[in-house]
Amino acid sequence: IKSASTRPPMRLPPLPTIREIVKLYRLNAVKQLSQNFLFDTNLTDKIVKSAGSLEGAYVCEVGPGPGGITRSILKAGAAKVVVVELDKRFNAGLRLLSAAAPGRVDIVNDDILTYNMAKALPLDLAVPWEGDPPNVHIIGNLPFNVSTPLIIRWLEALALRTGPFVYGRTQLTLTFQKEVCERICAPPRTSQRSRLSIMSQYLCQVKHCFRIPGKCFVPKPDVDVGVVHFTPLVRPRIQGVPFKTVEKVVKHIFHLRGKYCRKGAAELFPPERPDLLENLFTMSEVDPTIRPWQLTMSEWDRLAHAYWDICQREPWVSNYDFRAPKWEKFEIPTLPVTGER
Ligand code: SAM
Repeated sequence: IKSASTRPPMRLPPLPTIREIVKLYRLNAVKQLSQNFLFDTNLTDKIVKSAGSLEGAYVCEVGPGPGGITRSILKAGAAKVVVVELDKRFNAGLRLLSAAAPGRVDIVNDDILTYNMAKALPLDLAVPWEGDPPNVHIIGNLPFNVSTPLIIRWLEALALRTGPFVYGRTQLTLTFQKEVCERICAPPRTSQRSRLSIMSQYLCQVKHCFRIPGKCFVPKPDVDVGVVHFTPLVRPRIQGVPFKTVEKVVKHIFHLRGKYCRKGAAELFPPERPDLLENLFTMSEVDPTIRPWQLTMSEWDRLAHAYWDICQREPWVSNYDFRAPKWEKFEIPTLPVTGER
């Protein structure tokens, strides 16, 4: 018996090419669904290779379209691929693939933004969080219109260990518009450092695998595309603070990206309580005159903890929204917060 590493890729019987499938079933790209197809097998193989070994893996593929990436996943030896595709026009082509790889392709017509992945695969695939990641992967050439809300949704699920993360530290290999990809992977003190960098990197090891020029897609999008691989961390870089709270702190501080971080942080508290803002920076020991994009992960951790501690002591703070006019109707407690974390 050959070992997994020396076994040849699982061959599929001869099938029409993806280009032929698109022509055969008249699958014109629909702009509203961000449909940009990949016909080049070398590229779809390269995306799938970025996920690591898929031998015997269970994969959920987002937006298979005519099935180019799906074929590469099957060739890489996946035991099962569940494809989630909103547009039913692709079903006929996907059924051809399912017939060529019996029992290995499940077609689901659903919206990936609401699809519950915790039910997609057998629960006995689950492994302990602290061990190696499970043999479960999410792969997809994401529709651009849903990529940012989708990754934020999955990061929250990751923090809560729900959805795709009921199986353990499920890895994700996804495409994004080049700029979004750069923001996800940007290290501190770089021009692309943003909210997405902090939210992704506090929970995952992220890797920018490679760039795909826009001209490789049909139809050609206006932008280039990047492939990102996410491996959830055993221990998040910010622990003990709810995801939504981290998100709120990061969002407010980055709201005024080019200014001192105290400017954006000031919007976390009502102007009548300057003591709370003062407290945030003394408790976190962060220099309030640093710009948001310069903050290290350890400084974000301390800021999130300091804000969370203030919310614990003065629970009304967590409901404060500087944009909400209704806030004016609330009475703001005037007692200053004292004491250190
Ligand atoms: N995987 C194919 C490829 O690489 O050639 C197609 C990728 S195309 C960029 C995105 C695919 O996602 C389309 O097939 C589109 O119909 C599908 N899609 C768009 N929005 C979706 C949603 N909310 N849920 C599931 N699929 C969606």
